[in-house]
Amino acid sequence: QRKPLVVANWKMNGNSDLVQQMSDALSVLKQPLPEILICPPVILLTDFPKHQNYKLGAQNVSEQHSGAFTGEISADMLLAAGASHVIIGHSERRALYGELDTVISQKVKVAIDAGLTPVVCVGETLQQREEEKTLEVLARQLDAVYAAQPYLLARSVVSYEPVWAIGTGRTATPQQAQQVHHFIRQHLAQYDAQAADVLRIIYGGSVTATNCEALFAEADIDGALIGGASLKVAEFSAICTMA
Ligand code: 13P
Repeated sequence: QRKPLVVANWKMNGNSDLVQQMSDALSVLKQPLPEILICPPVILLTDFPKHQNYKLGAQNVSEQHSGAFTGEISADMLLAAGASHVIIGHSERRALYGELDTVISQKVKVAIDAGLTPVVCVGETLQQREEEKTLEVLARQLDAVYAAQPYLLARSVVSYEPVWAIGTGRTATPQQAQQVHHFIRQHLAQYDAQAADVLRIIYGGSVTATNCEALFAEADIDGALIGGASLKVAEFSAICTMA
């Protein structure tokens, strides 16, 4: 009963030509389609023509509403630019920009209160996996967002992105990913069992047109968050038709 969700995270890539090519390609895809979400650099959001086949999102949002926060963009501004969703807590934001669980938790609340759907990213590093700390790390990342504010769960998407699989060509096996997705759903059920049951949990990390079908076949994998392959119009379109 969970509608699949395929998300393109362009990261700091793309331009208005790619916007046009991607929009043209997605617009001619025939229903039934998964929910398709494109998250380009924010400056490109307003270049996308409106079309029923896809929605738009941002890759980050400020935890503040407005004011003297140089370089930041608020949830209201993203909505005004046409975004309905926002990626929050991507591992690159955590690792390269020092985003801590506390700020990620605030961002999720601010986004939802403004009317955006957050795609909340969690995932372990290679070292954490090798030390068998994967589930502990994920529980901490999830609890930071939902323990004090369980009502946010019903309005979230969660993305599992093992850090060791991002941009490395090394995907988690479908079985590895399914095991973690199942854990995430079970863990979140303590906050809101019904919301956890309908929650979309999507997988990210070296997803391609070649490996996506086996991932999508797993019971608790409800779609994908795609980096590199989302910049290739034909490949991304193909992934969308397989979800
Ligand atoms: P890749 O698909 O390039 O591994 O990136 C995954 C990712 O980080 C998506 O958010």
